[in-house]
Amino acid sequence: MEPSRRRRPCVALVVLIGLLPGCSSPSAQPAQSSRQPPAPAAVTPITVDSTEEQIRQAVGTARVGRKLTPKAWPNGARVAVCLSFDVDNELLQRANPLPVPLSVGEYGATTSVPRILELLDRHQVPATFFIPAMGIMLHPEMVPAILARRRHEIGVHGWVHEFWPGIGDTAKEQRLLAQSIEYLTKATGKRPVGVRAPSSGFGPQTFDLIRAAGFLYDSSLLAADEPYEIVSNGQPSGVIELPISEVGNDYVYYGETANGSLPSPDSVFEIYKAEFDLAFQERTMFILTQHPHVGGRRSRIVQLDRLITYIKSKRDVWFATMEQVATYVKQPRS
Ligand SMILES: [Zn+2]
Repeated sequence: MEPSRRRRPCVALVVLIGLLPGCSSPSAQPAQSSRQPPAPAAVTPITVDSTEEQIRQAVGTARVGRKLTPKAWPNGARVAVCLSFDVDNELLQRANPLPVPLSVGEYGATTSVPRILELLDRHQVPATFFIPAMGIMLHPEMVPAILARRRHEIGVHGWVHEFWPGIGDTAKEQRLLAQSIEYLTKATGKRPVGVRAPSSGFGPQTFDLIRAAGFLYDSSLLAADEPYEIVSNGQPSGVIELPISEVGNDYVYYGETANGSLPSPDSVFEIYKAEFDLAFQERTMFILTQHPHVGGRRSRIVQLDRLITYIKSKRDVWFATMEQVATYVKQPRS
């Protein structure tokens, strides 16, 4: 299913088809290396006739390795909190770029992003923004607005929010990733160290491309509630995963696929609060994934404000960018 045709962002795809929407040093080799990329790998279904080895290989691309929650977070905090925003905006409307659907995404850039930045200013907390390269082309003002705060991070979220497994051409997928890194590097003055796959699109070859591009971390997978090292085909990769969840995603509750099933922002607040409370008890990590054009609506951002206020009331909390968390958990400890 091509998500662009259905105009769904990241985790909505998870809901629809059951698919679940990084380590080398960031200073490592850029994506466009002289090495020829491997041929595109087809997805091999698991069937009753699959051998144990075939099943192992089929699931082996990106698995949970070492858990990386440290014994202590900086300043003795009990939990790390990452607020992340997938700034998809108009690029969810690629298949239907008409004024009305586009305006839904445009709201994200023109109204929600400034509103979110003001909220983060008020609380003096950092956040990570994953932005498709062409989203920056359409709204270049977002980048200086985010960077002016001097505490936020901008990460890779594709070229036009394309669905990577649907490209079907490894060299092209690699080129799009390299273009996206280059565009963000020029726009922000810093090479991005984190990536989140658009539309949760993680193809069989995607992880190899992410690793080869030298990302510090990925934040696309959903296999844990804490940081871990990705194991690929049985081998520790060195790439850190900062996993997300459907539960911590605004689109699941407010997006088109939610179909009005849980429209109450109060209820969404209670879910996020319960997720945070257990993360606090477990002394691990809490990641929230919001989409400005969805969660930046008035009634919803009021609840995000309330949530941040609640989390801050706990005191022993480390609000950090995902880069800061990945850098921290990557440090060797005795
Ligand atoms: Zn997205």
